[in-house]
Amino acid sequence: MRVRTRIPYDRSMTRLALFAALVGLPWYLLAVGGVVAAMVWGLRRQARATHRRLLRTTPLSPEWRAVVEQNVSPYVHLPPALQTKLEGYINLFLDEKGFEGCGGQEITDEVRVTIAAQACLLLIGRDSQCYPRLRSILVYPHTYVAGGKGLFGGDGDAPSVRLGESWQTGVVVLAWDSVCGGIRNFDDGHNVVLHEFSHQLDQEDGSADGTPLLDTLSCYGSWSRCLGREYQLFLKQVAKHRRTVIDHYGATNAAEFFATATEAFFEKPEALSRKHPDLYAELQQYYHLDPVTWG
Ligand SMILES: [Zn+2]
Repeated sequence: MRVRTRIPYDRSMTRLALFAALVGLPWYLLAVGGVVAAMVWGLRRQARATHRRLLRTTPLSPEWRAVVEQNVSPYVHLPPALQTKLEGYINLFLDEKGFEGCGGQEITDEVRVTIAAQACLLLIGRDSQCYPRLRSILVYPHTYVAGGKGLFGGDGDAPSVRLGESWQTGVVVLAWDSVCGGIRNFDDGHNVVLHEFSHQLDQEDGSADGTPLLDTLSCYGSWSRCLGREYQLFLKQVAKHRRTVIDHYGATNAAEFFATATEAFFEKPEALSRKHPDLYAELQQYYHLDPVTWG
Protein backbone atom coordinates (compact mmCIF):
# COMPACT_ATOMS: atom_id res chain seq x y z
CA MET A 1 0.00 0.00 0.00
CA ARG A 2 1.33 3.40 -0.89
CA VAL A 3 1.08 5.98 1.85
CA ARG A 4 1.13 9.53 0.74
CA THR A 5 2.57 11.87 3.35
CA ARG A 6 1.21 15.39 3.30
CA ILE A 7 3.72 18.05 4.26
CA PRO A 8 2.01 21.14 5.72
CA TYR A 9 4.39 23.48 3.88
CA ASP A 10 2.23 26.49 4.63
CA ARG A 11 2.93 26.30 8.36
CA SER A 12 6.27 27.85 9.23
CA MET A 13 6.49 26.18 12.66
CA THR A 14 5.99 22.77 11.13
CA ARG A 15 8.65 23.52 8.53
CA LEU A 16 10.99 24.61 11.33
CA ALA A 17 10.28 21.37 13.26
CA LEU A 18 11.07 19.31 10.17
CA PHE A 19 14.30 21.26 9.59
CA ALA A 20 15.23 20.84 13.27
CA ALA A 21 14.68 17.10 13.03
CA LEU A 22 16.88 16.99 9.95
CA VAL A 23 19.80 18.83 11.59
CA GLY A 24 19.32 17.05 14.93
CA LEU A 25 18.50 20.12 17.05
CA PRO A 26 15.39 20.89 19.12
CA TRP A 27 13.14 23.09 17.02
CA TYR A 28 12.79 25.71 19.77
CA LEU A 29 16.59 26.26 19.80
CA LEU A 30 16.47 26.99 16.07
CA ALA A 31 13.54 29.35 16.64
CA VAL A 32 15.46 31.25 19.34
CA GLY A 33 18.54 31.36 17.10
CA GLY A 34 16.47 32.76 14.24
CA VAL A 35 14.95 35.46 16.44
CA VAL A 36 18.38 36.45 17.80
CA ALA A 37 19.88 36.56 14.29
CA ALA A 38 17.00 38.77 13.10
CA MET A 39 17.47 41.11 16.07
CA VAL A 40 21.23 41.37 15.47
CA TRP A 41 20.63 42.04 11.76
CA GLY A 42 18.06 44.74 12.63
CA LEU A 43 20.35 46.39 15.18
CA ARG A 44 23.30 46.37 12.80
CA ARG A 45 21.16 47.88 10.07
CA GLN A 46 19.89 50.55 12.44
CA ALA A 47 23.45 51.33 13.61
CA ARG A 48 24.61 51.62 10.00
CA ALA A 49 21.74 54.01 9.18
CA THR A 50 22.61 56.13 12.23
CA HIS A 51 26.29 56.15 11.24
CA ARG A 52 25.41 57.22 7.68
CA ARG A 53 23.16 60.02 8.97
CA LEU A 54 25.99 61.23 11.19
CA LEU A 55 28.45 61.23 8.29
CA ARG A 56 25.94 63.12 6.13
CA THR A 57 25.67 65.91 8.70
CA THR A 58 29.31 66.17 9.76
CA PRO A 59 31.39 69.03 8.29
CA LEU A 60 34.67 68.20 6.61
CA SER A 61 37.88 68.56 8.56
CA PRO A 62 39.74 71.83 7.76
CA GLU A 63 42.43 69.85 5.89
CA TRP A 64 39.91 68.10 3.64
CA ARG A 65 37.93 71.29 3.08
CA ALA A 66 41.14 73.01 1.96
CA VAL A 67 41.64 70.27 -0.65
CA VAL A 68 38.08 70.71 -1.93
CA GLU A 69 38.43 74.50 -2.10
CA GLN A 70 41.73 74.15 -3.94
CA ASN A 71 40.83 71.37 -6.38
CA VAL A 72 37.08 71.52 -6.95
CA SER A 73 36.40 75.11 -7.93
CA PRO A 74 32.56 74.93 -8.09
CA TYR A 75 32.53 74.27 -4.33
CA VAL A 76 33.18 77.90 -3.37
CA HIS A 77 30.32 79.05 -5.63
CA LEU A 78 27.73 76.64 -4.25
CA PRO A 79 24.95 77.94 -1.98
CA PRO A 80 25.75 77.08 1.67
CA ALA A 81 23.08 74.36 1.83
CA LEU A 82 24.64 72.55 -1.14
CA GLN A 83 28.14 72.97 0.32
CA THR A 84 26.90 71.24 3.47
CA LYS A 85 25.33 68.42 1.43
CA LEU A 86 28.51 67.99 -0.60
CA GLU A 87 30.61 67.73 2.56
CA GLY A 88 28.26 65.10 3.97
CA TYR A 89 28.38 63.04 0.79
CA ILE A 90 32.20 63.26 0.72
CA ASN A 91 32.33 61.88 4.27
CA LEU A 92 30.00 59.05 3.30
CA PHE A 93 31.87 58.29 0.08
CA LEU A 94 35.25 58.13 1.83
CA ASP A 95 33.82 55.94 4.59
CA GLU A 96 32.30 53.38 2.22
CA LYS A 97 34.48 53.23 -0.89
CA GLY A 98 37.95 51.75 -1.12
CA PHE A 99 40.81 53.35 -3.06
CA GLU A 100 43.64 51.38 -4.58
CA GLY A 101 46.75 52.77 -6.23
CA CYS A 102 47.91 51.02 -9.41
CA GLY A 103 51.14 51.36 -11.37
CA GLY A 104 52.89 53.05 -8.44
CA GLN A 105 50.19 55.64 -7.72
CA GLU A 106 50.16 56.72 -4.08
CA ILE A 107 46.73 57.15 -2.51
CA THR A 108 46.95 60.32 -0.45
CA ASP A 109 44.16 62.28 1.20
CA GLU A 110 44.39 64.74 -1.69
CA VAL A 111 43.71 61.95 -4.20
CA ARG A 112 40.80 60.53 -2.20
CA VAL A 113 39.13 63.85 -1.35
CA THR A 114 39.58 65.33 -4.83
CA ILE A 115 37.96 62.34 -6.51
CA ALA A 116 35.22 61.99 -3.88
CA ALA A 117 34.28 65.68 -4.07
CA GLN A 118 33.82 65.63 -7.84
CA ALA A 119 31.96 62.31 -7.77
CA CYS A 120 29.61 63.63 -5.08
CA LEU A 121 28.96 66.87 -6.94
CA LEU A 122 26.61 64.76 -9.08
CA LEU A 123 24.60 63.76 -6.00
CA ILE A 124 24.02 66.94 -4.03
CA GLY A 125 20.67 67.85 -5.60
CA ARG A 126 19.06 64.49 -4.94
CA ASP A 127 18.52 62.17 -2.01
CA SER A 128 21.02 59.56 -3.15
CA GLN A 129 22.35 56.30 -1.72
CA CYS A 130 25.84 57.43 -2.81
CA TYR A 131 26.72 54.98 -5.58
CA PRO A 132 25.36 51.86 -3.88
CA ARG A 133 26.95 49.46 -6.40
CA LEU A 134 30.40 51.05 -6.23
CA ARG A 135 33.04 49.39 -4.06
CA SER A 136 36.48 50.46 -5.32
CA ILE A 137 38.23 53.24 -7.16
CA LEU A 138 41.47 52.21 -8.85
CA VAL A 139 43.85 55.09 -9.58
CA TYR A 140 46.72 54.98 -12.08
CA PRO A 141 49.32 57.76 -12.19
CA HIS A 142 48.92 58.32 -15.93
CA THR A 143 46.64 57.39 -18.78
CA TYR A 144 46.93 53.66 -19.10
CA VAL A 145 46.64 51.03 -21.78
CA ALA A 146 44.00 48.34 -21.33
CA GLY A 147 42.72 45.66 -23.67
CA GLY A 148 39.36 43.97 -24.00
CA LYS A 149 36.00 45.32 -24.90
CA GLY A 150 34.73 48.09 -22.66
CA LEU A 151 31.19 48.42 -21.45
CA PHE A 152 30.34 51.16 -23.85
CA GLY A 153 31.47 49.70 -27.12
CA GLY A 154 34.55 51.06 -28.82
CA ASP A 155 37.43 49.10 -30.15
CA GLY A 156 36.75 45.46 -29.39
CA ASP A 157 39.76 43.60 -28.10
CA ALA A 158 42.34 46.08 -29.31
CA PRO A 159 44.33 47.66 -26.49
CA SER A 160 43.64 51.38 -26.11
CA VAL A 161 44.84 54.33 -24.05
CA ARG A 162 42.28 55.18 -21.37
CA LEU A 163 41.64 58.08 -19.02
CA GLY A 164 39.14 56.13 -16.97
CA GLU A 165 36.50 53.42 -16.94
CA SER A 166 33.33 52.62 -15.06
CA TRP A 167 32.31 49.02 -14.49
CA GLN A 168 28.97 47.64 -13.38
CA THR A 169 30.88 45.28 -11.10
CA GLY A 170 31.43 48.17 -8.68
CA VAL A 171 34.75 49.54 -9.90
CA VAL A 172 35.77 52.90 -11.33
CA VAL A 173 39.26 53.31 -12.83
CA LEU A 174 40.84 56.75 -13.15
CA ALA A 175 44.16 58.16 -14.35
CA TRP A 176 45.34 60.74 -11.83
CA ASP A 177 46.96 62.99 -14.45
CA SER A 178 43.59 63.13 -16.25
CA VAL A 179 41.85 63.94 -12.96
CA CYS A 180 44.35 66.79 -12.46
CA GLY A 181 43.73 68.00 -16.02
CA GLY A 182 40.01 68.14 -15.23
CA ILE A 183 40.43 70.19 -12.07
CA ARG A 184 42.84 72.67 -13.67
CA ASN A 185 40.14 73.68 -16.18
CA PHE A 186 36.73 73.30 -14.62
CA ASP A 187 35.08 75.12 -17.50
CA ASP A 188 36.24 73.30 -20.63
CA GLY A 189 33.67 70.50 -20.58
CA HIS A 190 36.27 67.76 -19.99
CA ASN A 191 36.24 66.05 -16.63
CA VAL A 192 37.01 62.36 -16.34
CA VAL A 193 35.58 62.07 -12.80
CA LEU A 194 32.22 63.59 -13.72
CA HIS A 195 32.25 61.42 -16.84
CA GLU A 196 32.94 58.08 -15.17
CA PHE A 197 30.65 58.68 -12.22
CA SER A 198 27.78 59.67 -14.49
CA HIS A 199 28.30 56.21 -16.02
CA GLN A 200 27.95 54.80 -12.50
CA LEU A 201 24.60 56.60 -12.17
CA ASP A 202 23.57 55.29 -15.57
CA GLN A 203 24.49 51.74 -14.51
CA GLU A 204 22.51 51.79 -11.25
CA ASP A 205 19.48 50.28 -12.99
CA GLY A 206 21.61 47.46 -14.38
CA SER A 207 22.05 48.71 -17.92
CA ALA A 208 24.44 51.27 -19.40
CA ASP A 209 22.05 52.81 -21.90
CA GLY A 210 22.18 56.54 -21.21
CA THR A 211 19.07 56.48 -19.02
CA PRO A 212 19.74 56.55 -15.27
CA LEU A 213 17.15 55.86 -12.60
CA LEU A 214 14.65 58.72 -12.83
CA ASP A 215 12.41 60.10 -10.10
CA THR A 216 9.11 58.68 -11.34
CA LEU A 217 7.84 56.47 -14.14
CA SER A 218 6.32 59.49 -15.85
CA CYS A 219 9.81 61.03 -16.23
CA TYR A 220 10.99 58.29 -18.61
CA GLY A 221 8.84 59.40 -21.55
CA SER A 222 10.09 62.96 -21.43
CA TRP A 223 13.71 61.80 -20.94
CA SER A 224 13.54 59.39 -23.85
CA ARG A 225 11.99 61.96 -26.22
CA CYS A 226 14.38 64.75 -25.26
CA LEU A 227 17.64 62.78 -25.06
CA GLY A 228 16.76 60.81 -28.21
CA ARG A 229 16.06 63.98 -30.21
CA GLU A 230 19.16 65.77 -28.88
CA TYR A 231 21.36 62.76 -29.59
CA GLN A 232 20.20 62.53 -33.22
CA LEU A 233 20.81 66.27 -33.74
CA PHE A 234 24.22 65.90 -32.10
CA LEU A 235 25.17 63.03 -34.43
CA LYS A 236 24.40 65.26 -37.43
CA GLN A 237 26.54 68.09 -36.03
CA VAL A 238 29.43 65.73 -35.37
CA ALA A 239 29.12 64.23 -38.86
CA LYS A 240 29.50 67.76 -40.27
CA HIS A 241 32.53 68.39 -38.00
CA ARG A 242 30.74 71.28 -36.31
CA ARG A 243 32.01 72.75 -33.04
CA THR A 244 29.73 71.58 -30.25
CA VAL A 245 29.29 72.36 -26.55
CA ILE A 246 29.30 68.62 -25.84
CA ASP A 247 32.46 66.61 -26.54
CA HIS A 248 32.32 64.76 -29.86
CA TYR A 249 33.06 61.54 -27.98
CA GLY A 250 29.39 61.67 -26.97
CA ALA A 251 28.53 60.50 -30.48
CA THR A 252 29.84 57.01 -29.59
CA ASN A 253 26.49 55.87 -28.18
CA ALA A 254 23.66 56.96 -25.88
CA ALA A 255 25.61 56.16 -22.70
CA GLU A 256 28.54 58.33 -23.78
CA PHE A 257 26.14 61.07 -24.83
CA PHE A 258 24.71 61.19 -21.30
CA ALA A 259 28.21 61.19 -19.78
CA THR A 260 29.58 63.96 -22.00
CA ALA A 261 26.36 65.99 -21.63
CA THR A 262 26.84 65.71 -17.87
CA GLU A 263 30.38 67.09 -18.20
CA ALA A 264 29.00 70.05 -20.16
CA PHE A 265 26.11 70.51 -17.70
CA PHE A 266 28.50 71.03 -14.78
CA GLU A 267 31.41 72.67 -16.58
CA LYS A 268 29.74 74.77 -19.32
CA PRO A 269 26.20 75.27 -18.02
CA GLU A 270 25.62 78.67 -19.65
CA ALA A 271 26.65 77.42 -23.09
CA LEU A 272 24.65 74.20 -22.71
CA SER A 273 21.52 76.02 -21.56
CA ARG A 274 21.84 78.49 -24.44
CA LYS A 275 22.53 75.96 -27.22
CA HIS A 276 20.48 73.04 -25.86
CA PRO A 277 17.79 74.49 -23.55
CA ASP A 278 15.64 71.34 -23.60
CA LEU A 279 18.59 69.07 -22.80
CA TYR A 280 19.72 71.42 -20.04
CA ALA A 281 16.21 71.42 -18.57
CA GLU A 282 16.05 67.62 -18.63
CA LEU A 283 19.43 67.30 -16.89
CA GLN A 284 18.41 70.02 -14.45
CA GLN A 285 15.32 68.00 -13.59
CA TYR A 286 17.37 64.81 -13.18
CA TYR A 287 20.19 66.27 -11.08
CA HIS A 288 17.87 68.72 -9.26
CA LEU A 289 20.56 71.34 -9.78
CA ASP A 290 20.95 74.54 -11.78
CA PRO A 291 24.70 75.16 -12.24
CA VAL A 292 23.99 78.34 -14.27
CA THR A 293 23.11 80.02 -11.00
CA TRP A 294 26.43 79.10 -9.38
CA GLY A 295 28.23 81.88 -11.20
ZN1 LIG B 1 32.48 57.03 -21.16
